[in-house]
Amino acid sequence: ITIAVPKETANGERRVAMVPSALKLLTKLGATVRIQHGAGDAAGFTDNQYDGVEWAKTTAELYKGADIVLRVQPPTAEEAAKLPENIIIAGYMTPHEGDSRISNLVKRKVTSFALELVPRITRAQSIDALSSQGNIAGYKCALLAAHLSPKLFPMLTTAAGTVKPARVVVVGAGVAGLQAIATARRLGAIVEAYDVRSATREQVESLGGKFIDTGVSAEGEGGYARELTDEEKAQQAEVLAKHIAQADAVITTAAIPGRPAPKIIDKATVERMKAGSVIVDMAAETGGNCELTEAGKEIQHQGVLIAGPRNIPSMAATHASEMYARNLCNLLALIIKEGNIDLNWDDEVVADSCLTHDGEIRHAPTRERIE
Ligand code: NAD
Repeated sequence: ITIAVPKETANGERRVAMVPSALKLLTKLGATVRIQHGAGDAAGFTDNQYDGVEWAKTTAELYKGADIVLRVQPPTAEEAAKLPENIIIAGYMTPHEGDSRISNLVKRKVTSFALELVPRITRAQSIDALSSQGNIAGYKCALLAAHLSPKLFPMLTTAAGTVKPARVVVVGAGVAGLQAIATARRLGAIVEAYDVRSATREQVESLGGKFIDTGVSAEGEGGYARELTDEEKAQQAEVLAKHIAQADAVITTAAIPGRPAPKIIDKATVERMKAGSVIVDMAAETGGNCELTEAGKEIQHQGVLIAGPRNIPSMAATHASEMYARNLCNLLALIIKEGNIDLNWDDEVVADSCLTHDGEIRHAPTRERIE
């Protein structure tokens, strides 16, 4: 088995799908690894750190005779059209968008595994890139909020006076939100947090955060949230606005799988915030949790700074790549048996995370949308 790792082509992507420390996991599976020169550079892994691999200059060289391609970002429609027929590709595949790319994967009879579709079950935790990368994003968002705020996060008692700790509100207490809470707490802030899933109360409190009770609870399927009704949204907004108005920094991480980000902070709520406060909107790329967020920009609105950073895990490319690469290795361990590819469709992790195979879209919601 030959596993090919291209240099990422997406703008601003610093991560790489395979890191030197994970190579031994692939060798153990009986695979040979082939890497495109410079693939790890932006993540801090130079070519000379990858021991015992084959090298390729061009993608043509890279894919020649390869069985599996590992990537971070999904291929573009053009890149998908150039993949060798019947090859396996694993990485983010954004199944909810990019229909022409998915159609090209189908045309090329590519077997694609989408990390977004890995089931959130205990056995698949080591494959769960949404969690590994979400964890990193939550950490970075808290640092970003601290960095952008004109205030200090910790309480300081100094000869030059006493500084009060910052008040931080975290909206959405999933994987990323919980790490944002933990990080803001470590920096010394007073943290309040809110999530529509009431199960998160205990998790927030265990990190030293205070749970904001809006009286709205919306547990959905598979441990995810469902969308709120209009009445629920109004009730939530009313309570949250009071806490947000008092905050020095707000970090929003709310998401609903496959849907645009829920709008939680409207313009009127921003206008109730103090001048000098900041919002870091982690959901910027899927539309933003704040009505005023612009993806990839930092904007000012009546003295409030609203940041909508893109591709946050890529900002910590070294560790993000290490975790991501481990996630992929653990996925490959399910489909490589004794040095051969063995796709066991009875394994729900394999079956559920497969987007396309043998000229068909296997993921039902994507198939229904495209066909
Ligand atoms: P996510 O990124 O889809 O969403 C982030 C958070 O936003 C979620 O906690 C969600 O409840 C919240 N949210 C959605 N709408 C909201 C709204 N209107 N207001 C406030 N908050 C809102 O979720 P995630 O972090 O990837 O995962 C969510 C949960 O799934 C985890 O906390 C965990 O319970 C479960 N999970 C299980 C496994 C596993 O067992 N393998 C792995 C990962 C996650």
